[in-house]
Amino acid sequence: MSSPEKLAVVHPAQLEYPLEAPQPGSVTPVAHGIYWLRMPLPFALEHINLWLLADHSGWTLVDCGYATSRVRALWEQVFERVLAGRPVARIIVTHCHPDHIGLAAWLGERFGLQPWMTEPEYLLAHAAYHRTGGTSLGDLQAFYSRHGLEPARFDGISSPEDHYRRGVPQVPQAFNRLRDGEAIEIGGNAWRVIVGRGHSPEHASLYCEDLNVLISGDMVLPRVSTNVSVWPMEPEADPLKQYLGSLERLRVLPPTTLVLPSHGLPFRGLQRRIAGLEAHHADRLERALEVCREPRTAAELLPRLFGRDYKDYQLLFAMGETIAHLNHLMHAARLERSADGSGSYRFTRIPSPGRRHSP
Ligand SMILES: [Zn+2]
Repeated sequence: MSSPEKLAVVHPAQLEYPLEAPQPGSVTPVAHGIYWLRMPLPFALEHINLWLLADHSGWTLVDCGYATSRVRALWEQVFERVLAGRPVARIIVTHCHPDHIGLAAWLGERFGLQPWMTEPEYLLAHAAYHRTGGTSLGDLQAFYSRHGLEPARFDGISSPEDHYRRGVPQVPQAFNRLRDGEAIEIGGNAWRVIVGRGHSPEHASLYCEDLNVLISGDMVLPRVSTNVSVWPMEPEADPLKQYLGSLERLRVLPPTTLVLPSHGLPFRGLQRRIAGLEAHHADRLERALEVCREPRTAAELLPRLFGRDYKDYQLLFAMGETIAHLNHLMHAARLERSADGSGSYRFTRIPSPGRRHSP
């Protein structure tokens, strides 16, 4: 299961926002040869930012938008008014979430192209589309029940595979592989692929040193924290460790880098934003340890971690993110996990790190 949705607003400290958002169907220039396009989303985030990069004989698109008739109509406007008769020559998909890969097959067929993406994102898109490999609602229900969620809480939640197919009515049947560290030449500039983990398997961000621009995708967003969840297909995973490790790889970029995120406004202040995200997760981990002085399930911890409870689809992401924090502490030997009489997992604080193993 995978999704683009993000839950927590983490207020950024002193970020600089140099640009104003474009109107639907039009673009805002952001740097030499880079144009910003916004597409609406039919859920809480409201929009996704897409990027058009002027290439030698056409355009490179970064991300595709969620497949609604409105987004298709806006693309038609963009083809007519913005692309100035030059074809789309390449499509890059940062990751498999539906607002990013959504119309990739449609755009690809139109221009005779296969998208560029990392292999795990391509494969997970197919698993999510074909409801296999741990991506079904039944898999989620079983997994979250194990983590203490009452079955009744699932009432009214549409299945994630339906959600996925709404946004991605067709998955591309072939792709070109993006590899971590490789440079792609676009319009005379080298763009380096920086793979990030923890939000999706191998999310591709793109960095151009010559232009001092990072297309961060969902890995770093200016206002909301990126969703970092454990999903049923890998129940023992520690995606928070992967995510925090991926932020380290972005922290070394120049402080003046203009960051182009998938949601929100382009900004400068990457290192300050990364520090804010780290502080946010550190605070969540501390809170989890505090609550787990008594044995707790993820479902019991959730409202205390988020300061509220969730219903509907957001509940799935909040559960995934709660388990991510619990698994992280368990793998760091700060919590231990046991099953209670009903078979639910409960997590309990280990009084002092390492004590469990002392003689
Ligand atoms: Zn995403």
